[in-house]
Order: sequence, then C-alpha cells, then structure tokens
Amino acid sequence: MSTDQNYPWGPAADGLDQPYWDGMIAGELRLQRCNQCRTWIWGPQWICGRCHALEPGWEAVEPTGVVYAWSRSHYPFIREYADRAPYVTALVELPRAGGRRVLGLMPDAHEIRIGDAVEGRFELDEDATWPLLRWYPSETRR
Ligand SMILES: [Zn+2]
Repeated sequence: MSTDQNYPWGPAADGLDQPYWDGMIAGELRLQRCNQCRTWIWGPQWICGRCHALEPGWEAVEPTGVVYAWSRSHYPFIREYADRAPYVTALVELPRAGGRRVLGLMPDAHEIRIGDAVEGRFELDEDATWPLLRWYPSETRR
C-alpha cells in the first residue's frame, strides 16, 4: 500500500507490484517471470498471458538495455516534475528479460538515439519515499 501521497509512484494498493518496489529499495530491478513457461512479464500481472499459470514469480534482472523509444516533455505532465521540465522519458528494452520494455526517466544532457545502450541506476529523490530507476548512457556504446 502506498504511504506516499506526494508522489504518483510507489506500490499499488492491491499489492501486485510490491516485489518491484521492494527491489527498488534493495537496488534490484525485479520483473515477473512465469514459473511454468519462463516467459518474462511486464507490467505486473496476476496470471501468465502465455500459459495462464497463476502467480508468476519475480526475478532480478541486470538493469541494462537499449532505448526503444523516448520523448522529451516540455509540459509538466508529472506535477512533481514541473520545475524539472523539460525532462526525458525513455522506453527501455531489456535483452536479459526477453525484450520486455520498461519506462523510466533519463537525463536530458546528451543526444539520445533509438538503440542507445543504457544502464539503470536506483535513485531516491530527496523528498520521495520510493526510489526510481533512471536510465543513463552506458559507458560502452553499442
Ligand atoms: Zn507461463
């Protein structure tokens, strides 16, 4: 259950994504993976969409990927980020998690290209309860 009223992120009330947020606290990117057919699942689901097995497990995956898509927002869609606009949101594809794609913020200080290699860092804003995964260009570009 979310206890942070000031930020739009944190665990959902139904508890489905709690392991993801526990991973953020532990410095791990945790995604669901079906215990039966081993399919990676994102966003969190109660049931595997491929084989219909219940209660998919959670596994840590290395937070490295490639930029699948990105957008620079000049309008403060995220109220808490109004003073940070423009900000960049990236959809990052995770090769080590079956190509699942996760959203995250990126620094706007470099030229971003589709296919750029990126790595995630777990960062806790000064006034936030839950860390966020932010994406940065990899040291070694592909
Ligand atoms: Zn399955």
